[in-house]
Amino acid sequence: MSGGFDTRVIELVMALRNAGVRDKQVLAAMERTPRGVFVPESFADQAYENRPLPIDCGQTISQPLIVALMTQALEVTDRCKVLEIGTGSGYQAAVLSRLCRRVYTIERYRTLSQEAVRRFEALRLTNIVTRIGDGTKGWPEQAPFDRIIVTAAAPQRPDGLLAQLREGGVCIAPVQNGPVQTLVRYRVQPDGIFEEPLLDVRFVPLVEGVARSL
Ligand code: SAH
Repeated sequence: MSGGFDTRVIELVMALRNAGVRDKQVLAAMERTPRGVFVPESFADQAYENRPLPIDCGQTISQPLIVALMTQALEVTDRCKVLEIGTGSGYQAAVLSRLCRRVYTIERYRTLSQEAVRRFEALRLTNIVTRIGDGTKGWPEQAPFDRIIVTAAAPQRPDGLLAQLREGGVCIAPVQNGPVQTLVRYRVQPDGIFEEPLLDVRFVPLVEGVARSL
């Protein structure tokens, strides 16, 4: 690792702080998670820029600011059992793994899941459990979860997933809202599900079923 590596991470974290990410624990988790490990070799020079980048299987690793804002909005504690839909590169799961007890993450592309596992092992992130499958069905054997984070855009309120949250649980998901996608925070309360729009975002779609190829 070159000396330039640390400077780039610190500059990225400063950019996140300037953009309004206030949670110190989230900023520290981002600082400790080298995004360079999660992007393809050909984009290594852009790993610490605040922009989404392409990964295998036609998917994307989210923009660092969106990862930080989603992590902050999820309100995790070190006692939380978290479910993530859309492992992708594994970057979001890696950031979460620093802040919670265990992360369960589902990806429909075998290639992406296997690459993510390799990265988790290299970084010694032992509290992440992966599965290849259709995340729209959640992970019933492990439910209920304290938190659920969906990193692909759902066509509507993800009721099947919300059913796997414990009472008092929080879910963050990008949801198609006419021509735009809105990041929504859902809270499961004794008297119903409360929803709060946070900001407009752009994610790849949440696709039902396991990927046929790769
Ligand atoms: N969290 C990822 C972002 C990945 S992009 C990261 O930090 O890099 C969204 C991912 O969701 C893609 O990899 C896509 O294949 C996956 N995906 C889409 N629909 C899915 C589904 N039904 N089940 C599981 N994964 C899904």
